[in-house]
Amino acid sequence: MNRLIRRAHRLARVVTKAAWAVVHRRHPILAQVVPMRRCNLACAYCNEYDTTSRPVPLEEMLARLDKLADLGTSMITVSGGEPLMHPDLDAMIVRMRQRGMVSSIITNGYYLSPERIRRLNAARLDYLQISIDNVEPDEVSMKSLRLLEPKLKWLADLAEFSVNVNSVVGGGIKAPEDALVVARRARELAFTSSVGIIHDGRGQLRAFDERQMAVYRGLQRMGSRGDTRVNRIFQENLAHGRPNQWRCRAGARYLYVDEAGLVHYCSQQRGTPGIPLAQYTRDDLRREYDTPKGCAPYCTVNCAQRVALFDNWRSPQEAAPARAPGETAPAPGPGASPARDRALAN
Ligand code: SF4
Ligand code: SF4
Repeated sequence: MNRLIRRAHRLARVVTKAAWAVVHRRHPILAQVVPMRRCNLACAYCNEYDTTSRPVPLEEMLARLDKLADLGTSMITVSGGEPLMHPDLDAMIVRMRQRGMVSSIITNGYYLSPERIRRLNAARLDYLQISIDNVEPDEVSMKSLRLLEPKLKWLADLAEFSVNVNSVVGGGIKAPEDALVVARRARELAFTSSVGIIHDGRGQLRAFDERQMAVYRGLQRMGSRGDTRVNRIFQENLAHGRPNQWRCRAGARYLYVDEAGLVHYCSQQRGTPGIPLAQYTRDDLRREYDTPKGCAPYCTVNCAQRVALFDNWRSPQEAAPARAPGETAPAPGPGASPARDRALAN
């Protein structure tokens, strides 16, 4: 019963936030924060982790969350590295909820235990995403169904938050058919599931080969119950290597705040605009809302695309006015590398 009540309450909050995002253009819908870059794994395709960094002190993280709340942010996703390695993750989730924001984490799941899941319940986490890359571990990824199966069962039994299992197609994943097995298992456990499209090690988008396309079609036939169903057309185009026409609102509606507290467009466009969150203003939000991103056509950052749906129908983007030298980095131009799918990290 506790689960049902929490689910209904969560849904009501999310619907209210979505309605507010339609009515009001000048606040971030989603911010991704990195409380530590360190990870316990070393996936071959990942460029978002290190093996040595220390956790950002809790006081600093709470100040960043407060700042995001002051900017009107609706939802926070904590990623990494591996966020469950941060000793104060629960306190961050509590602060998000106290400030009225929807809370979520992206994890590789290795640190989940019954006791850890109960603590996440107590902190009132809203969403958890766990990414599973293959059925058996290999040199590309240790995020495998066999190793994570006990964690999935604990989540099914104990989690009062929503769980999404992300499987992947493309890039260096050896057996694309594994994504179907992962998605089926997610359904059996009553989780939502989603699929991420990844690139090769140079970050370049490639159209699927025949085998990958067959898996992608199989996943579509199963029907998505995850939130990626809302940007299916984006994924369809990417699977065929076709560009998407959309307006990326990164830096305004979607923020990526790294471990140093700098705001970037996204995990794959770090350095732009590169402004400290503490100094980020409504003028910055307004400027980036109107700034076209040259990397948009082949972007696979699912969360930025989903957020953009709130505004794609309005407010055409124009080039931003010139900035003072050294003030911020320039917006990515037409030659910028397409992003790898952040949905994969963790
Ligand atoms: S890579 Fe995607 S999310 Fe990032 S700035 Fe470019 S278009 Fe936006
Ligand atoms: S993808 Fe996630 S689990 Fe893998 S190395 Fe990167 S941060 Fe760690």
